[in-house]
Amino acid sequence: MDFMSSEIHICIIGAGVVGLAIAAELASPDRKVFVFERNRTFGLETSSHNSEVIHAGIYYQDAPLKARFCVEGNRLLYEICKKYHIRYKNTGKIIVAADEEERREIERLYYQGLKNGASGLSLITRSEIKRLEPNVEAVSGLLSTSTGIIDSHGLMRSYMGRAVEKGTDILFNSEVVGIEKLGIGYRVSIRQDGNISLVTTAIVVNCAGLYSDKVAALAGINIEQAGYKIHFCKGEYFAIDPRVGRLVDRLIYPVPEQAGKGIHITLNLEGQMKLGPNTQWVNTVDYSVDENHREGFYTAAKKYLPAIRREDISPDFAGVRPKLQGPGDEFHDFVIHDESDKGLPGLINLIGIESPGLTSSPAIARYVKGMVEEQL
Ligand SMILES: Cc1cc2nc3c(=O)[nH]c(=O)nc-3n(C[C@H](O)[C@H](O)[C@H](O)COP(=O)(O)OP(=O)(O)OC[C@H]3O[C@@H](n4cnc5c(N)ncnc54)[C@H](O)[C@@H]3O)c2cc1C
Repeated sequence: MDFMSSEIHICIIGAGVVGLAIAAELASPDRKVFVFERNRTFGLETSSHNSEVIHAGIYYQDAPLKARFCVEGNRLLYEICKKYHIRYKNTGKIIVAADEEERREIERLYYQGLKNGASGLSLITRSEIKRLEPNVEAVSGLLSTSTGIIDSHGLMRSYMGRAVEKGTDILFNSEVVGIEKLGIGYRVSIRQDGNISLVTTAIVVNCAGLYSDKVAALAGINIEQAGYKIHFCKGEYFAIDPRVGRLVDRLIYPVPEQAGKGIHITLNLEGQMKLGPNTQWVNTVDYSVDENHREGFYTAAKKYLPAIRREDISPDFAGVRPKLQGPGDEFHDFVIHDESDKGLPGLINLIGIESPGLTSSPAIARYVKGMVEEQL
């Protein structure tokens, strides 16, 4: 497509679950909205390398956006799944305490979850856990009935369909390589098949996931100074052999660790169980799984699932978290910011959209719509 002299209203960078949710929310016959995605199709990066869990909103302390969007997104996702026939299952989840110290942590999480507005939380005893999940060993637990799992591809397809239906153009193999501020709006350069095309747009929404800091830098933002530098934190998964039978009905999580939620058991919609994700700080994105990490997974799972054996698990897949938090740093909230304060009104950066980004996607989209409508 020739973009020379094209004028559009809104340019969304990245067709992951967040960019597509925003496109679905902003799509309107009265606006020209374009989504540019550098890969050959949508959702090939973090949005297809995750646990596909609809989170409840328990963990997020001092992270008001994560807490708010996760709780709101949980409610909205169930509504969206029903309305647009996206596959999901409201499995529920238990965070388990292995000892007295962890029991106190579980109680703290319970009150944090209540404070965040998460629904369906209750503290449960060892015998209640045994009744719900006979294979799980723990001194106590935090039950979340609003947690579930979702077909993330079905969700993305649905967002995309809604956007396209209302006239949004979603262009693949289209990498944004330049963002230049004009008197009003921006000139965005897009590389397609080695050729550069230009569009003029009033609004730029940066949903570039792992590379959202690099995209912000294209607009002249000093990412170190702004606190936008993304750190890659890889998470591997090991599959549990289906021949062991169904060991759990709910998702089972340990108490969270510094950079992740701890190696937990998740189920997919076919009922297959997997363990993960672990946490490894890396410099490059690769989705391989190291067989040598089997022992770490086995030891972590054995604590709450004594029936598991080393030979029951095998390397499966990996994802990479786009974290604002570096190794040893404090937990960080999402950044969703209109850059008017940096002289760049109408440039909306979404940075550090790690978990619970999938759950939060419909709530983030509504929030961004509000920011866009202030600028248009
Ligand atoms: C291991 C793991 C487990 C997770 N589990 C869960 C979970 O269970 N529940 C949950 O709610 N969340 C979970 N998450 C978080 C969730 O997956 C992410 O928050 C979400 O997928 C982020 O979506 P996104 O659209 O922001 O990013 P992405 O999916 O990464 O999409 C960004 C897109 O931008 C494109 N792009 C980048 N640069 C450019 C450019 N210059 N030009 C054009 N396109 C560009 C990329 O190609 C990519 O397609 C998990 C994440 C990980 C890593």
